[in-house]
Amino acid sequence: MTETVRALVDRLCAGEHLTEPEYAALVAGRDGEAAARLRERAVAVRRSIYGDAVFTRGLIEISSFCKNDCLYCGIRRSNANAQRYRLTGEEILLCAQEGYRLGFRTFVLQGGEDGYYTDSVLWDIIRALKRRFPDCAVTLSLGERSLDSYRALRQAGADRYLLRHETADRAHYGALHPREMSFDNRMRCLQDLRTLGYQVGCGFMVGSPGQTPETLAKDLAFVAAFQPDMCGIGPFIPHRDTPFRDRPAGSVELTCFLLSVIRLLCPAVLLPATTALGTLHPQGRELGIQSGANVVMPNLSPLSVRKKYALYDNKLCTGEESAQCRACLEQRMRSIGYELVTHRGDVRKPQIPRERKARRAPL
Ligand code: SAM
Repeated sequence: MTETVRALVDRLCAGEHLTEPEYAALVAGRDGEAAARLRERAVAVRRSIYGDAVFTRGLIEISSFCKNDCLYCGIRRSNANAQRYRLTGEEILLCAQEGYRLGFRTFVLQGGEDGYYTDSVLWDIIRALKRRFPDCAVTLSLGERSLDSYRALRQAGADRYLLRHETADRAHYGALHPREMSFDNRMRCLQDLRTLGYQVGCGFMVGSPGQTPETLAKDLAFVAAFQPDMCGIGPFIPHRDTPFRDRPAGSVELTCFLLSVIRLLCPAVLLPATTALGTLHPQGRELGIQSGANVVMPNLSPLSVRKKYALYDNKLCTGEESAQCRACLEQRMRSIGYELVTHRGDVRKPQIPRERKARRAPL
C-alpha cells in the first residue's frame, strides 16, 4: 500500500468521508492490503449493527417489457430477441404465498418500465399483498415514475423503493442511456421517493462501459451524501443482444472493494450481495457478504419466466425452484458462519456521533 492509500484507508476506517479526488485516488491506487483492511473494518462495523444476520428479500420479476432502451440491458425495448412476459396480480400473489411459506418477509417487485402496471393496477396488487401478508414489507423496483405515482404507491402500502442511480456522472449517464433518458429525472425520482417516506435504495453497476476511477468517485460521494437505506451494486455483465455485447464484465474484486467502502460510508445500509456477483464467481455472494454486504435476494419468480428476465448473459438461478434457491443460499451463508433471518429486516439508523458528522467532507 502506498502512503497515500494507507492514509485514505485509515480515514475511512475511522468513519470519515473523503473528497471526490481522494475516492478516485483510493480506487486507482488500491491493492490487496488496502482491500483487506477495509474489508475487516467493514465487517466489524456491520457486525456491530446487525450481528451475523443476513437478510433475505424474495425477488419477483414481474415484467420483461420495458419502454426504455438502456444500452447495457438485455430487456431493452429494441432487443427483438428478448422474450417478453408479464405477471398478473394473481400470479404475483401466488409467488408471494410461496415466498411467505418459505420464510420471506420482504417481497421485491421488480420489472422493466411496463405501461401495463398503471397506478391503479399496482394499487390493487400492493393492497392485496399487504392484506394477505400484513407482517411483510413490499419493495418496488419499477423504474422512473412521477411524484404523484410514487405517492399513490406509497399510500397503497409500498414500504421501500429501489432505483439505482446507475452513475452519478452526467456524461457517463449519457453514454449508458439513449438521449430521451435523463440524469436529472433519475435523480429527481430518488429525491421524490425520499420525500414521500420510502426507504430508498440507489446503486450502480461496477465496470459499466466508460466507468473510471473518477466516475466511481462521484458515485461514492453521492452515496455518502445521499445516505440511502439500501444500495445495490453489482458487476456489469454483457448481454449478447445489446450494443455492449463485446465489453468486458466488471470485476468481482472491485465490486467487493466498493462494498466495503460503502459499508463504511453508510454503516447501517442494507447492502445486497447480488446475483450478478454470484454469476461472475462461484462464491461471489459469499465474498460479497465477507466484504460488508448483509442482504441476499433469492428469486421467487415462477420457473416458467425466469430465463426471460435476462438482463445479462448466463444469469444465475434461472433453472431452480424458489425453495431450492432459498435452501442453497441458506447453506451458502451457513458455510461462512452467517444466518439467514426471516424478519422484515428494516434499516437500523444508529446515532452518528457529532464529532464524526462534523468531519464529513462536503460534496
Ligand atoms: N426498470 C427498473 C429500473 O430501471 O430501475 C428496474 C429493473 S432494471 C433491469 C434493474 C437493474 O438491473 C438496473 O438498475 C441495472 O443496474 C441492472 N442491470 C441491467 N443490465 C445489466 C447488466 N447488463 N449487467 C448488470 N446489471 C444490469
